[in-house]
Amino acid sequence: ALATDIPRTGPAITPPRASLAEFWLPFTPNRDFKKAPKLVARAEGMYYYDPQGRPIIDGVSGLFASAAGHGRAEIAEAVGQQLRELDFTASFYRSHPLAFTAARAISELTPDGLDRIFFVNSGSEAVDTAMKIVLAYHRARGEGQRTVFISRERAYHGVNFGGVSLSGLVNNRRAFGGVATPAPLLRHTWRAESVFSHGQPDTGADLADDLLRLIAVHGAENIAAVFVEPIAGSTGVLVPPRGYLERLRAICDAHGLLLVFDEVITGFGRTGRAFAAQSFKVRPDLITMAKAITNGAQPMGAVAVDRRIHDQIVHSAPEESIEFFHGYTWSAHPAACAACVAALDIYARENLFARGAELSAYFQQRVFSLADLPAVTDIRAYGLFAGIELAPAGKPGERGYRVQKELFDAGLHLKTTGDAAILAPALIASPAHIDEIIDVLRRVLVCHSA
Ligand code: PLP
Repeated sequence: ALATDIPRTGPAITPPRASLAEFWLPFTPNRDFKKAPKLVARAEGMYYYDPQGRPIIDGVSGLFASAAGHGRAEIAEAVGQQLRELDFTASFYRSHPLAFTAARAISELTPDGLDRIFFVNSGSEAVDTAMKIVLAYHRARGEGQRTVFISRERAYHGVNFGGVSLSGLVNNRRAFGGVATPAPLLRHTWRAESVFSHGQPDTGADLADDLLRLIAVHGAENIAAVFVEPIAGSTGVLVPPRGYLERLRAICDAHGLLLVFDEVITGFGRTGRAFAAQSFKVRPDLITMAKAITNGAQPMGAVAVDRRIHDQIVHSAPEESIEFFHGYTWSAHPAACAACVAALDIYARENLFARGAELSAYFQQRVFSLADLPAVTDIRAYGLFAGIELAPAGKPGERGYRVQKELFDAGLHLKTTGDAAILAPALIASPAHIDEIIDVLRRVLVCHSA
């Protein structure tokens, strides 16, 4: 019923008369935000509601997280019950039953054999944890000299120092030099000849051969792993060309490099299967995940690790000593585990990954209907995930920033990155919701010139 609810103006919620000064917002132009704060006070199904009760349709699942829609009572209840029963234990030297249930539930969704689950609290922590697992694995095999990580232009792997070293976005690293060693980068996979191509571009698999050039420069024996987002998300949805991920896999295998898929955005149904690894039929050695792991209701992330990698690390240490000197106070927090188990249960019960796959043809058809707008210069889409590239107006990113504000005022929440608008609606969306999202986009973008 949630999915087809027609939004009614909700109750007005009086925001506390708080000062705006103290909260320093992440990844936000703070001074501009505070001139006219955009607040949401409530959420249900496909909609946010501002403090006055005005509905704003959610085109990006909050931030790629609320895959089953907002306000799921089952998750709220599971979290509440868990907090009343056992509010907190760390998982150092002891743990709690739901942590094992959650790990098992995740392992049933990951590709075969990627069934050892390390819990963290965010995508950024998942990335840094995966880097440490990779290093520990090579060291345990007597190849501790493998310390070079390969990443890709325009990559986003979170904001902790490991992820910053992998960053292919200069803004995310330019102010923080000196601490994180920049990773050698493959070229990104956007090509002018493939604009407006549906699904995977037909050409560009050869870009994977960049890895051979980097191997020639750094020496295969020094390289630990290659990190890629199967679909580069935060940079505007770059869908991998056909054959590209397969080629990366083959080169990694030939040279003993591990392949890590960062599925923080693409995990949990975004591409029509549980993970993009399954949609693209390429099996990585590790998968990082977060966001929709709890439907966004609790902070949580995880790394799914190939059992052989886990065993190599764990079996290399004496039985009564810590095998992997890493972990967080909140790793496998009881409330997060409860949210995770409840969210995965909803995904299964409502068959949401298949539902998203079914909706994706209609979604993509509607997104591509915007191609006639003069301001739209490219559209890329896969599953329920789309990037709409806008012609820059003024400095790069200026139009994207303005469009995102105009869309919110017109009743649509989405993410822009540079001059690209990103859509990733919840898997519960109905065709009518997609229509509403596209209608608002058209209404706003039609006022923008080429
Ligand atoms: N990795 C990828 C591919 C992401 O898209 C993101 C966030 O969008 C992250 C890592 C970082 O996740 P978090 O913001 O939870 O730290």
